[in-house]
Amino acid sequence: MKLFQCQCCGQVLHFENTVCLSCGRSLGYLPGPDRMVAVEPDGALWAVADAGDPQRWRFCKNWERSACNWMVRETGPDYCEACRHNRTVPDLADPENHRRWQRIEMAKRRLIYTLCRLGLPRPTLGDGHPEPLIFDFLADDPGSVQRVLTGHAGGVVTISLTEADDAEREAMRTRLGEAYRTLLGHFRHEIGHYYWDLLVRDGGALDAFRAMFGDERADYAAALDRHYQNGPPAGWEATHVSAYATMHPWEDWAETWAHYLHMVDTLETAAALGIQIDPGVDNHGQLTAEIDVNPWRAGDTGRLLAAWLPLTVALNALNRSMGQPDLYPFALAAPVQQKLAFVHDLVMTRQG
Ligand SMILES: [Zn+2]
Ligand SMILES: [Zn+2]
Ligand SMILES: [Zn+2]
Repeated sequence: MKLFQCQCCGQVLHFENTVCLSCGRSLGYLPGPDRMVAVEPDGALWAVADAGDPQRWRFCKNWERSACNWMVRETGPDYCEACRHNRTVPDLADPENHRRWQRIEMAKRRLIYTLCRLGLPRPTLGDGHPEPLIFDFLADDPGSVQRVLTGHAGGVVTISLTEADDAEREAMRTRLGEAYRTLLGHFRHEIGHYYWDLLVRDGGALDAFRAMFGDERADYAAALDRHYQNGPPAGWEATHVSAYATMHPWEDWAETWAHYLHMVDTLETAAALGIQIDPGVDNHGQLTAEIDVNPWRAGDTGRLLAAWLPLTVALNALNRSMGQPDLYPFALAAPVQQKLAFVHDLVMTRQG
């Protein structure tokens, strides 16, 4: 994620900001030009402050629910580029539902930002696309023992509201023995399944996929049972990015895809902050990097990984200084790096 700047007062702005803390103006994100701008009311609409621009804007309808800071053109649809994929949101009359949903929306906007920057297709319902991208954000029914499951099927990404509760999500992470579990991580994983449909299955890349990740026609239900009964095979770290990735080729793909999105977003943030890693004791240069890579247009993953690996070591060391768990509790073995390169190459060649 890049840093933004208030065009009126020069204040540094973050992607999630809704008000400029320096000049007090409302802020809106314009997804097309990828700008965060200070805006001023103009009748029922909004104008970019100090711009002399005749174009008028509206906030996304979810702005009224304090759940979005993106804008649409005066004549555009009610919902922004991120929110028009929502099919179901929970009952917002329940304040706890509302709070959880706001957290989900925040993670979702970061996901959509990355998809926009990567130039990936994002068809919506009504586009005529056979598999539009749809989000269902669902709360558990208190009258039922059935729990909402986070997952993807045929273009529909379902996120359980429970995942927006820190205590419940952490309890689940511990129970499942996972190293990392976040809302944003869920979005990045599930959208990986979606782009498998678009880029691999429908993109003529099945043979190359199977050569790299294995044959996805393997029985999924049996694989799931095996994984939860026996756990991952010993030594999985040498071939897979996470234990869960060993379960089935589809999950290996989705986990690898999620890591690719972790990497490009975090590298853009580090580059925007001008971060350099230059430890005095690093005689071999393995932990030294100037993070000046443009992750959206990198020719190959070599430069991305050359920046990413030292950055993650530095971030983990900083977290340990604060008594926090490692920020990036993963190691990227050579076969995992090859899978990341596969994802990167597919994204770069299939940008829509
Ligand atoms: Zn300002
Ligand atoms: Zn929106
Ligand atoms: Zn999955």
